[in-house]
Amino acid sequence: MTQVMTVRGPVDPQDLGTTLMHEHLFIDLTHLWEPPAHPWQMPLGDSEPRLENRGLLQVDAYVSRPNLLLDDLELTVAELRPYSELGGGALVDLTTNGIKPQPASLRTVSERSGVHIVAGCGYYTGVTQPPEVASLSEQELVERLVDEIAHGIGGTGVRPGIIGEIGTSAPITADEEKVLRVAAAAQAKTGLAINVHVSIPQPGGDQPPRRADRPRAPPRDPQPRRVRGVRLLRLRALLRQPRRG
Ligand SMILES: [Zn+2]
Repeated sequence: MTQVMTVRGPVDPQDLGTTLMHEHLFIDLTHLWEPPAHPWQMPLGDSEPRLENRGLLQVDAYVSRPNLLLDDLELTVAELRPYSELGGGALVDLTTNGIKPQPASLRTVSERSGVHIVAGCGYYTGVTQPPEVASLSEQELVERLVDEIAHGIGGTGVRPGIIGEIGTSAPITADEEKVLRVAAAAQAKTGLAINVHVSIPQPGGDQPPRRADRPRAPPRDPQPRRVRGVRLLRLRALLRQPRRG
């Protein structure tokens, strides 16, 4: 039987259980931070996400720099506990090069929480890509990726179980196209699936300005959605729903 590669080694698919297919236990999106520009945003710039500001952060998640950085191992283990207790068995962590993947920490979190974790590999959007994407040839990048898949990420011994998420912008950059070709070639050699997140807004890019699309004031009754902790509340409700079909 084909097994799924997790951060603690291969696992039979039926042993994964309920699996979240796109998570980021550790991630650094601070390159997307936009300083507060409106009075209601001012207290948020350096504020940690918490219950008191979660509604405002739902309106604009990118105005708080701490909200764009997930790097707390203890908190991550604590947040996975209710997921595991409620029947969650596994998740896929798609943090790739450019937004600070932490494969060794993923293994520690998996060991301590008991939740299986499938780690991604590859490169995120152009503005986050390390210099090697431009300097190495496609063939060299394929060899590097295939080697990571076979032997582990960055000398950690933690092997990826999926390629991605690969990030692309609008319009796509030449190096992002290069990374897509590299991912496809590595997929053909290894058989791993690929996840691609297309058209991610970039600071200063050719996208329509995000701020123009945003509300100028918070809604009267802001509801939480994106802040850590809240996601698990939603998840808890989902896991309690009876299965359909
Ligand atoms: Zn993602």
